[in-house]
Amino acid sequence: MERKPGTFIRNRRLRRFPALRAMLQETRLALQDLICPLFVVQGQGIRKAIPHLPEVFLFSPDELLKEAVTLHEKGIQAVLLFGRSEQKDEAGSDAWNPRGAVQEAVRVLKRELPTLFVFTDVCLCAYTTSGHCGVVRGQYIDNDRTLEHLARVALSHCEAGADGIAPSDMMDGHILALREALDQAGFQETPIMAYSAKFASSLYEPFREAVDSTPLFGDRSSYQLPPANLREALREAQTDLLEGADILMVKPALPYLDVLRAFRERFLVPLAAFQVSGEYAMVKYASLNGAIDEKKVALELLLSIKRAGADLIISYFAPKMPEWLREE
Ligand SMILES: [Zn+2]
Repeated sequence: MERKPGTFIRNRRLRRFPALRAMLQETRLALQDLICPLFVVQGQGIRKAIPHLPEVFLFSPDELLKEAVTLHEKGIQAVLLFGRSEQKDEAGSDAWNPRGAVQEAVRVLKRELPTLFVFTDVCLCAYTTSGHCGVVRGQYIDNDRTLEHLARVALSHCEAGADGIAPSDMMDGHILALREALDQAGFQETPIMAYSAKFASSLYEPFREAVDSTPLFGDRSSYQLPPANLREALREAQTDLLEGADILMVKPALPYLDVLRAFRERFLVPLAAFQVSGEYAMVKYASLNGAIDEKKVALELLLSIKRAGADLIISYFAPKMPEWLREE
């Protein structure tokens, strides 16, 4: 019996001509996809380099404004603010200080740059002496007491003028608690971007140095997701949606593209992905040592995050993207 030969198909036809290749590109990065993370500390005239995050700085609110003006003029539409506190206590009360660094920065940004969308990170880990994301009882994080504190933080950000809040604490019931607190205070139009699938990753180290939030004891495994668990991530996402989340986030991005894809296939809400400090540092240090090309690798990684299903990407590369996309 004669074996039937395979059919010869010329897929390369569509890749031959550069213009056609460009026309057929399925996924594109745009400045509107990006959210730029920014670090803020109380004070004036501070623009301090962060160890292990090359070209990322810790700003006082006045310097942060200068940076944001430059970013917004170049086309960046949104920022996500993280605070660093020099007044830590057990409760993390500096997190809801109306004169705190984040609250001050939000007021300045919204006064001077009303068209810039300002998200704020809502958590306690940069403000508690324990370095944990919640209130500690013994060696355990007290979930329900933490919720009361988080609600105060979120309200203080909204009262300062924040356009959207992003709770990163991974406590149970947090989206519901914040939604109710915001609604009761008249902020029913303020969206919540939930860090739904925040994995207990080893890629957060440079960030923890930046905001001084390394836990004093133990780790965050009793509240953040185990890296091996996709179904558990889906359950977190489902829970956050039921509680009222407007945008779901996956964090980190690159090691969890399968989670992002699974979210995209199941949920209709917008998705964000956080390319975290360790992901950024890996590219920076490899390129500083001449092993890879920073721009090419960063663009490929960001494109892969978008292709996997992200509508929004939080990335430390955001300040470079206006120039990089123009050159493309
Ligand atoms: Zn935290």
